[in-house]
This record gives sequence, C-alpha cells and structure tokens, in this order.
Amino acid sequence: MGSIIFIVFGLVVLRVIATPFPKKVSYAGAQIWRTALRTPNDILLIKKLFENQDISIWNLSPKRADFLVLEDNKVKIHRQLSSRGLNHTVLILDVQRRVDALKTEPVLWDDNTLRQGHRLTWNRYPTLRIIEEYFNYVADTYPSICKLEKIGSSSENRSITMVGVSNGNPNNMGILVLSGLHAREWIGITSALYILNNIVTKFDQQPEYIKNKNWYFIPLLNPDGYEYSQTVNRLWRKNRRKFKRCYGVDINRNFGKDWAIDGITENHECKDAYAGPFAFSEPESAALRDVVTKAKGKLDALIDIHSYGQLILYPWSARPWHNPDMKVQKNAAEAMTQAIFDSTKNLYKSGETYHMVYPATGSALDWIYASGVTHAFAIETRDTGEHGFLISPHYIEPTGKELFIAVKQLAKVLGPKFVSRGKDYQAWF
Ligand SMILES: [Zn+2]
Repeated sequence: MGSIIFIVFGLVVLRVIATPFPKKVSYAGAQIWRTALRTPNDILLIKKLFENQDISIWNLSPKRADFLVLEDNKVKIHRQLSSRGLNHTVLILDVQRRVDALKTEPVLWDDNTLRQGHRLTWNRYPTLRIIEEYFNYVADTYPSICKLEKIGSSSENRSITMVGVSNGNPNNMGILVLSGLHAREWIGITSALYILNNIVTKFDQQPEYIKNKNWYFIPLLNPDGYEYSQTVNRLWRKNRRKFKRCYGVDINRNFGKDWAIDGITENHECKDAYAGPFAFSEPESAALRDVVTKAKGKLDALIDIHSYGQLILYPWSARPWHNPDMKVQKNAAEAMTQAIFDSTKNLYKSGETYHMVYPATGSALDWIYASGVTHAFAIETRDTGEHGFLISPHYIEPTGKELFIAVKQLAKVLGPKFVSRGKDYQAWF
C-alpha cells in the first residue's frame, strides 16, 4: 500500500541532468530525513511542507515522518522544523549516491542462466524483461500446475500478467498474491517472485495446505511505472498515464471502495498519490477489478505486498471504524507476525491501515475485502527506514523468505479444508 503507509502530498520539483535520452532524474545532494511527530500541529506542518512541494514523503505514521529533502531546500526545511522545536535525523545522507550504488545492471545469459532456463536471480533487481522471461519460463517448465493469463494492458500498452498455480483440485481455496502497484517498491515485487518461485519449483515438497490452494500471482501490476523507475526516475510511484500537466495515477488510490474521500484524497494530477479522474479509470486497476470479479466466490485471501515499514495491515484504510471481519484478520495477522519472528527474529507489527499508518482512499485492500475476500492483507516489507525504497539487493532473499513465511502461515490458517462451492464452481484449470 505503501501506499497505504505513506501518503505523498507533494511533488518535489526535480532537476533533470542534461544527458542524452532518456534523461535521468537526479537526486544529487538530496537527503532522507526523519522527524518524530508529537502533536496534530506537527503533522499539519509536515502536510504544509508537502503541499508547498518542499518535501516528498517516503513514509508517514501518526508518530513520525520520513521524507526527501532536495539539496536547495535543506536550510529552509531545517529552519521551519526548528522553529517548531522539531528535530530531525538523517536516514540517507546522499540519495543519488544510494541510487547509483543500486543500479540495475544487465544480466547476460551465461552457462549458469542457460542451465537454469531464466535470468532471475536474488542478487539484483530484475528488469521488466527478465520478469517476463521468468513468467514464460515457469509456464513452459511446469505446465501441469502453472499457467499464464494476460489480464490487461497498461496505459503504455505493456502486458499485465497473472501466473496461476494449482494442482487442479476443484475445491481449493484461492489466494491472490499481488505486488508492484507502486513502481519504486522493488523489494515487494521480488518478494512476490520469490514466493511464486518457491511454490512452483518445489511444489512436491510443499505441505498439503500450500498444494491444495489455487494461487493467483500478479507480481507486477504496474509495468509502466516499474520500467520508468528503472530507466528514468528511481523514486517514481504511480503509473504512466499522460495528463495535461503531469503523468500518473496512484493505482492504489484508484479502486472503487471509498474512492477519493474529501480531506484525505489527492485530486491533482501532479501529486504522487493522485486518485485519478474517477474510480477504476486506469487499465491496471480495472484489470485487477476484472480478475477479482471473475474469481468471485473462488478467492479467499489477498496478500498485497508493498514497501516499507514491516507491517501487516488489514482494512479499513479509508475509515476509522472496524470492519466486520476484523477479529479474524487480527488473529491471522498476529499469527503471521509471530511466524516471521519465530523464524527470523525480525519484528513486524500488525493493525488496521487507518490507525497503523494513515488514512488512504480507494485502496486495492479495501476494495478487494469489500468484494468478499475475508482474509485481506497488505504487507509492508523491510525495512523500517534505514534504506527505505533504496534497500540493497542484499535483502531480496531474506525479505522474500519472510514474506513466504507469512503467506505460508496464512495458507495454514485458511486450512487444507475443502469448501463446497456448489455446482457452478469451475476450477481455474
Ligand atoms: Zn506501496
């Protein structure tokens, strides 16, 4: 959700280096600061700074804000924070240096990748092309349990792919694993790929509660944004819909449950959390809507993976009150955080998005839950801010493992039990 977790109120005006096409956005001298928030007035100050486009928010909760400050704004922002008695710590000293250090380099075919059959590794973030190759690889290599479905096309006409994994048992419960709504949250996308890879390539070794599920993987719902974040602007969040003045809708604000509530939503096309002109205006959110609508009655759980913050979140995101299934979700979320802690000693927290992080309208989480998927969760992966979105590929594997532990725990909670769905139920395969 990241979404859910941070709402970006302002778009920082970025300098563009004069290089041959494509022009890369530079964050030279920019820093990530963290400020503890103590009063509603502190939050208002941060909000004002966003609105004046002086800072760009990375992560926001009722207690603290992480945000990006461009070099030229450092003195001004420092002065404004100090005048309120607010201190800040520097989380990332030079954003551009970090971006450069984490550049995705081309992975060439070699003896090892040829033998493996694909170029996806856990040592670096994959390009869009490598992800697509990998989808084809699993479908070709495991045709008896795995199939691809093109669920839509992005606004720049790239394919949006769903990978279905099932043993064909007609009574399986269904779990949707979703990621890549937000372009810059690369470690969420690799985590979804990690889970997919483990289930597909080690299917026979999985427990019954994993095997007897229909898995729906959509690891990259926003291919245009991802490509743009790899080639032009590492910190791009939205899709790449072209508007008059700016580009992009925040896909995770574009769903038709509590869409664009006044006072919470961003209505301007230049803002990082722009909700779009109307609910489901975007091909990416519409594609997901159609999948969920078509699978009605067959989907029992959702994991929507974002970064960052180490949180397991459940609805509502846009409303302060409890949803009717909150207790069930709370128990499952606590079982997931406990399973992660038991295995890795890494601490994840859980709660309702609205209270844990910040109100967010039109989220995929709220809409999918409202469509009848009781076990609906958004997970914010590592870390808690030290690296934020610029987390090193070194963490791809440990983060993927953690997410797989959470997903396994959820599958276990749902159980291997067979639910009778009546005569008109048709399996995915
Ligand atoms: Zn997100």
